[in-house]
Amino acid sequence: MSVDVQNKPPKVEEALLPGDKHISIERQRIREHRTKREPTPTFDLSRIKHKFVVLSGKGGVGKSTVAVNLAAGLSNKGKRVGLLDVDVHGPSIPTMLGLEGQTLQESHDMIKPVEVNGLKVMSVGFLLQSQNDAIIWRGPLKSGLIDQFIHQVYWGDLDFLIIDSPPGTGDELISVCQNVDKLDGAIVVTTPQRLAEVDVRKSISFCRKMKVNVTGIIENMSGFVCPECGKHIPILLSGGGKRIAESMKIPFLGAIPIDPKIAEACDNGLSFLTYYSESDSARIMNNIIKPIVELESTIEVETNHFRLTKKKDNTMRIAIPIENNLLAQHFGHCNSFALLDVDVASKTVLNRSDIDAPPHQPGLLPPWLAKREVDLVLAGGMGQRAIELFGNQGIKVLVGVDTRSPEELAEDYLQGKLEVNDNACDH
Ligand code: ADP
Repeated sequence: MSVDVQNKPPKVEEALLPGDKHISIERQRIREHRTKREPTPTFDLSRIKHKFVVLSGKGGVGKSTVAVNLAAGLSNKGKRVGLLDVDVHGPSIPTMLGLEGQTLQESHDMIKPVEVNGLKVMSVGFLLQSQNDAIIWRGPLKSGLIDQFIHQVYWGDLDFLIIDSPPGTGDELISVCQNVDKLDGAIVVTTPQRLAEVDVRKSISFCRKMKVNVTGIIENMSGFVCPECGKHIPILLSGGGKRIAESMKIPFLGAIPIDPKIAEACDNGLSFLTYYSESDSARIMNNIIKPIVELESTIEVETNHFRLTKKKDNTMRIAIPIENNLLAQHFGHCNSFALLDVDVASKTVLNRSDIDAPPHQPGLLPPWLAKREVDLVLAGGMGQRAIELFGNQGIKVLVGVDTRSPEELAEDYLQGKLEVNDNACDH
């Protein structure tokens, strides 16, 4: 199906595809607002501490892959993260995160992002009824849609928003640069070939014109990791990204090899950094995002690699504070924890054991649970400091989880369906 949208002024409701139930509700709501002359609610972007746009000179260089893994990597380190895909013509983020077919809901009179394991995601892909649908957008409508995505998505409080833009320097990117107040910077993704250099230089000069700081360059597909022996083989000339970074006086963030596991994770809708956290490529990616993570760290983060698949047999241990066999919202004061061993590959709960919580003492629970080989904590509310302390023990924390049975929560997590709300605790 292709929808040809006339070149009309950028009315918000027309910038969305006809026929979508949720969008019809959205139109109705906007009409009602207009008749009552109520202002359309807009999201206060100052609730997001850091905003980065990921861009590239041309398509297929791994820009979306980098955006997804940057977002997942930050989320794995206990940060509150949103991922906004403004690639109107080729939204690939829903596929990369296994979110195809998800429909949009409302929150606070705005669009509610779709969530996957604590990561909030918004993409034009959620407006398409089929992956094969194409949309033909004319300039002003496109800008209207991007504008709505920027101002009318209810993200809640976030540490980071990562924006995946389409390749090149078109309307979408211009809208992002003009409308996102206090953009921290642009991350430019390129491949090693000399030919790519021209595009990168264009991207950088675009950022300079738009007065957007270039955070750095990432060289993707830099050599190849042999799936047999794990050895790094330089199949394309490498070093192009570094060379440009030096000549244009921009930080070089790092080089990611071609790794079949990265492509496999993308195809299967899994974030590579979460599911292959112990691979060499994951270590490279984690090093790349380290300076960005540290923007939000008040304490030293050293061994902050999450251990989702550290155990060789593909299992992980989830800890859930409980009361009457349901998740206890008051994490620090719960009486016991359910420890669930789960199999990440088959997505099943293997066994559960309950243990009494230690006497309440600030800072005690992170090392106490680390000693019990916990990889992930699902909690209701938790202070940011506590989340960071868990991060330092290599334990990922998801907050804002509902009061439900531990098994149900673990199963939803494994299926990527676990919904999280705003963190109920802000101390
Ligand atoms: P872009 O957003 O620049 O168009 P994508 O992120 O969609 O590019 O990546 C294009 C394809 O390349 C995807 O199938 C992705 O899985 C794959 N890919 C990206 N980076 C790597 C990598 N380092 N190793 C292996 N495959 C990769």
